[in-house]
Amino acid sequence: LAKLDGKVALVTGGSRGMGAATALRLAEDGADVVVTYLGSAERAEEIAQKITAMGRRGWAVRADSADPQEVRNVVAAVAERFGRLDILVNNAGVGAVGPIEDVALEDVDRVLEVNVRAPYLFAQAAVAHLGEGGRIITIGSCLANRVAFAGATLYAASKAATVGLTKGLARELGPRGITVNVIHPGPIDTDMNPADGPGADFQRGLTALGEFGSAADVAATVAHLAGEDGRYITGAEIAVDGGVVA
Ligand code: NDP
Repeated sequence: LAKLDGKVALVTGGSRGMGAATALRLAEDGADVVVTYLGSAERAEEIAQKITAMGRRGWAVRADSADPQEVRNVVAAVAERFGRLDILVNNAGVGAVGPIEDVALEDVDRVLEVNVRAPYLFAQAAVAHLGEGGRIITIGSCLANRVAFAGATLYAASKAATVGLTKGLARELGPRGITVNVIHPGPIDTDMNPADGPGADFQRGLTALGEFGSAADVAATVAHLAGEDGRYITGAEIAVDGGVVA
């Protein structure tokens, strides 16, 4: 029996990067997995097909995290189609860099909508379906705890908010047997932050290990929290950052 047999997971932003790696890892561990995406329909479909090829149920759904109705609709659709929801992974996120004078109001709104409001609304919609053993796992950032360079204020503020969300919800949902945690990745090689990008060497220098992590590194920690092994971990911030905050 695989660890997550019979469980249903919803991974937001599962078409690329950490979300895609997480979706595949949870399926490998036995779960049926739904991924959301915004623009990358083909890549999301590919992930869903890979999950199906593993013998699990996979489903890719376009749902803009910035749209509250789409958030609610996709959670309801998962519950209807699969009859349950056990694991919510709030992964979809958007970056924003630049000096505070240059950040437009639309950027502020977009980052807060996708990185803060959406995880809240996904959790709010999911609690109607999560039962004993349920899991809410949010992808924060090491920038929630240490901002080692200028220009990331908005993004850091949005990721710091995931900590309050996590701790508050852990208290609220603990009595129902649901755990809530946040993972803080460091530099992870994805489209958002390529290991050969202009700021990559600087970021390597911030780590203790001297290298980027992979999306699979983060997915492995999600899988640990999602399974029975994670049952006594809640309200926690878990760094998968190569030592950035060390
Ligand atoms: P990527 O940019 O590689 O992938 C982002 C994913 O989120 C894509 O699947 C994208 O969908 C989806 N997405 C973005 N906006 C929306 C939206 N409005 N609605 C639905 N889906 C959306 O990011 P990463 O894998 O690097 O990042 C994953 C998470 O990790 C994010 O929360 C990010 O902030 C965080 N993080 C990343 C770090 C890094 O170094 N990479 C470090 C610390 C934290 P589509 O393909 O359709 O656009």
